[in-house]
Amino acid sequence: MSATAVRTIQHRIAGREVAGSSDRTAPVFDPATGAVQAEVALATVADVDAAVQAARTAFETWGDVSVTRRARVMFKFRDLIDRHMDDLARVISSEHGKVLDDAKGEVIRGMEVVEFACGIPQLLKGEFSEQVSTDIDAYSFRQPLGVCAGITPFNFPIMVPLWMHPMAIATGNTFVLKPSERDPSVSNLIAELYAEAGLPDGVFNVVHGDKEAVDALLEHPGVAAVSFVGSTPIARYVHERASKAGKRVQALGGAKNHAVVMPDADLDFAANHLTAAGYGSAGQRCMAISVAVAVGDAADPLIERLEGKAREIKVGPGLEPGSDMGPVITQAARERIADYIGRGEQAGATAVVDGRELEMEGEGFYVGPTLFDNVQTDMDIYTDEIFGPVLSVVRVPTLEAAIELINSSSFANGTAIFTSSGQAARVFQRKVEVGMIGINIPIPVPMAFYSFGGWKDSLFGDHHIHGPEGIRFYTRAKAITTRWPEEAQDAGHHRGHMHFPTAV
Ligand code: NAD
Repeated sequence: MSATAVRTIQHRIAGREVAGSSDRTAPVFDPATGAVQAEVALATVADVDAAVQAARTAFETWGDVSVTRRARVMFKFRDLIDRHMDDLARVISSEHGKVLDDAKGEVIRGMEVVEFACGIPQLLKGEFSEQVSTDIDAYSFRQPLGVCAGITPFNFPIMVPLWMHPMAIATGNTFVLKPSERDPSVSNLIAELYAEAGLPDGVFNVVHGDKEAVDALLEHPGVAAVSFVGSTPIARYVHERASKAGKRVQALGGAKNHAVVMPDADLDFAANHLTAAGYGSAGQRCMAISVAVAVGDAADPLIERLEGKAREIKVGPGLEPGSDMGPVITQAARERIADYIGRGEQAGATAVVDGRELEMEGEGFYVGPTLFDNVQTDMDIYTDEIFGPVLSVVRVPTLEAAIELINSSSFANGTAIFTSSGQAARVFQRKVEVGMIGINIPIPVPMAFYSFGGWKDSLFGDHHIHGPEGIRFYTRAKAITTRWPEEAQDAGHHRGHMHFPTAV
C-alpha cells in the first residue's frame, strides 16, 4: 500500500484540524500486522508557533475564567472519557498493540487525574494570616504560568498526557501537547472530547511531530513550562535545554525496576504478580518489573514458577479476545529486544525462556516472554532499559545485598518487595533509594491524588507529576501583605520608618 493511500493524522490547533506547513510525515503502524495504517504529520517550527500563539491567545481569557467553571469543564470531560472508554481503548490498542483490557486500564488511570482536577476549587485555596503586624494581614495564592507544553512517550498514549493537561488546564493554564508520533490518534480524540466538554478553542492544542517539534517547543519564548515523559537520554536533554531557555521543567525518564522476593514470601503470589508486571504490555511500561532479585532460598522455586507462567502467556493481537500480551511497538524495537536476548546469552546468563523462539504468522512485531537466570550486574541485559518482555533474575544472599544492588542502579523509578515480614518491608522502604515503592504490589503507580515520580536518572527537575506536586508545578505563588489605614490614623505619618519592616 502506498503512503498516499492511508489517512494523514493532522494537528489540532485552536479547535480545528490543521494541516502542517510541510509534507513531512511518519508512518503509524498496526504492530499486530506490521502494516502502515496511517501517516502522521510532523510539525515544523511554524506549526509549533501557530499552536503556541493559539494557546497564548486563549490564555488571555482562560486565565480569568472562574475556578468553578474550570471545574465544571473537568466534570464534563471526565464523563465523556468514561462514556467513550471503549473507543479510546480500541484506538490505543490498534496503534500501540497492547491488549484491550490493558488499554482500558490506562484510560481509567488517566481519568482519575481528571477526577482529581475536578476538585480544583479546593486544591487552589490559598492561605491567610490575620494581624501579622498591627493592622496588617498577609495572604498568598497561586496563579497559572501561561502556556504549558507536554511531550509524551508511546507507551501510555492517553494516560501520560492525562497526568499533565488536566492539571495544567484546571489551574488556569493553556496547553500544547506533542504526543508520541508512534500512536498519535488518541490525542486528537481527547481534543474533541475537551471541545465537547465546553473547553474554549485554543486552551488545549495538539501538534504531532518528532525532534523538530520538540526543539521548537523547548526554545519557544511563549512556552512557560515543559512536562516531559520518555527515555532518560531525552529527558536529560529536555531538562537541560528547556532550563537554559528559562522554562520550568519536569522531565521523567526511563527505568529498570527491581522486585525483591524474600524467602518468606508467598512464592505463588509473587510469581503471579511478577509475570504480570514483567510481561504486561510486552514489558513496555516505565513501571514494569525487569529484574527479580531472588534472596537466598527463594531463587530456585521462584524461577520454576516464573518459567511455567511465562510459557502459559498467550501472545496475540491486542484487539483479539484472549490475548494476554500483544506485539511491541515497531520492528526496530523487536530487533533491539531480540539482540539484547542474544547478548544476554553470550554474556553467560541462562535463557530459561527465550522469546525469540515464539512463532507467529504474519509480519506483526512480536517477541515472546523471556526469562533469564544467573544475570550478573555487568551484563547489558542488567544495566540497560530493554523496554520489552524480558525478565532477568539476579540471585543475592540477603535483603541488605538486594537493597545495595538497587541503590547502585542509576535508574530509580519504582521497586517492590514481596515478603511476609513487616520488619523486612519497613527496612526496605526506609533504605531503598527509589521514588515509588510497592510492598507486595509490583507496579506501585501512585493514585492521582498522590504524585508520580522517580529519583536519580528517572526524573530531572524537582517536581513529581500530577497530584499535589502537579498543582505546584503548574502555578506560581503570590504573597500579599496588606494594610488599610484610616485617614485620621495615618494623618501624622508623612513618611514611613526607614528600617527594614518588622512586626509591631
Ligand atoms: P522517547 O524518549 O523515545 O520519546 C519520548 C518523546 O520524546 C516522544 O514524544 C518523542 O517524539 C520525543 N523524542 C524522541 N527523540 C527525541 C530527540 N532526539 N529529541 C527531542 N525529542 C525526542 O521515549 P519512548 O520510546 O516514546 O517511550 C519509552 C520510554 O519512556 C522508556 O524509556 C520509558 O521508561 C519511558 N517512560 C517513563 C515514564 C516515567 O514515568 N518515568 C513513563 C512512561 C515512559
